Amino acid sequence: MDIKQQVFEWKDQHHEKKLYCVIGDPIKQSKSPLMLNEAFAVKGINAVYGSFQVAPEQLGQFMEAFRENGLSGMNVTIPHKLHIMQYLDEIDADAKALGAVNTVVNRDGKLIGYNTDGIGYVRSLKEEAIAHIENKKIVVLGAGGASRGIIYALLKESPASITVVNRTLAKAEELVQSLNTSVSLLVAGQEQLELICKDADVVINTTSVGMYPHSEENPFQGILLKKGAVASDLIYNPLLTTFVLTAADQGAIPHGGLGMFIYQGAYAFEYWTGQPAPTDRMRAIVLQALQS
Ligand code: NAP
Repeated sequence: MDIKQQVFEWKDQHHEKKLYCVIGDPIKQSKSPLMLNEAFAVKGINAVYGSFQVAPEQLGQFMEAFRENGLSGMNVTIPHKLHIMQYLDEIDADAKALGAVNTVVNRDGKLIGYNTDGIGYVRSLKEEAIAHIENKKIVVLGAGGASRGIIYALLKESPASITVVNRTLAKAEELVQSLNTSVSLLVAGQEQLELICKDADVVINTTSVGMYPHSEENPFQGILLKKGAVASDLIYNPLLTTFVLTAADQGAIPHGGLGMFIYQGAYAFEYWTGQPAPTDRMRAIVLQALQS
């Protein structure tokens, strides 16, 4: 069935409700429907949140269906965070500056794009691991889409420095050059990782190394963090990666990626509804699903 027909039939099943969804390719693994349907239920909002597998060549058609059926909002995941922008009427300044949209709000027929990934990560980091990032030395491993979003948000917290390390050095250089900041934003090669991690206050893995089913992999193998530093990972399956667990055994503060996932969804919920998201219930239901 073509994507427009799928959206039309879905609307038909839920015609009395507000409609939200997530699109991506692949999408089956997404916990967003579980988390956001829980949030709507807890808040007593008459809405339903679905998911659509949308291939890159179907994005234009999906967006036509989105408008024609009056969907209220959506989340956007890989591989559409960049290409979605051409179908929107307005893009929030931060999303535009960092070059990716993960949340769309339909405000009276006007589609507005936001990015909640980076702010979701920083909220999680501050609530769960380190309250003040100001003047801290940060090391970020990885220079992909997620890295870009979190670096953009971290820069707003005025850290002393952020050093980006990536397997493909040119990508780290490109990322750093594209961000306009007065913070010391540096690039280092992987061979310098051990040295720069020694006196970092926060070390963040934004690569997929260590993600299920390759949970035994550790991109910081043999690297020691200073005592009391934060070992942070964007991965939430496993909830704590081998990197985070190993560093915690050596005296670091552990921080996993689940909080980022919950808060990026919470900010989206807040943009859509104007109400505070029930983050405890959202976290509980996702945790239960990940542990079962
Ligand atoms: P991406 O754009 O594909 O970037 C992947 C990054 O990982 C690149 O820097 C890549 O280096 C590096 N990398 C991949 N395999 C590697 C390896 N074997 N050795 C060294 N470096 C490697 O992916 P992304 O969207 O940024 O996502 C990255 C991670 O963040 C994923 O694990 C994802 O699940 C997680 N994430 C979590 C949340 C959350 O809500 N918690 C949200 C978004 C993403 P090269 O440039 O050299 O290829």
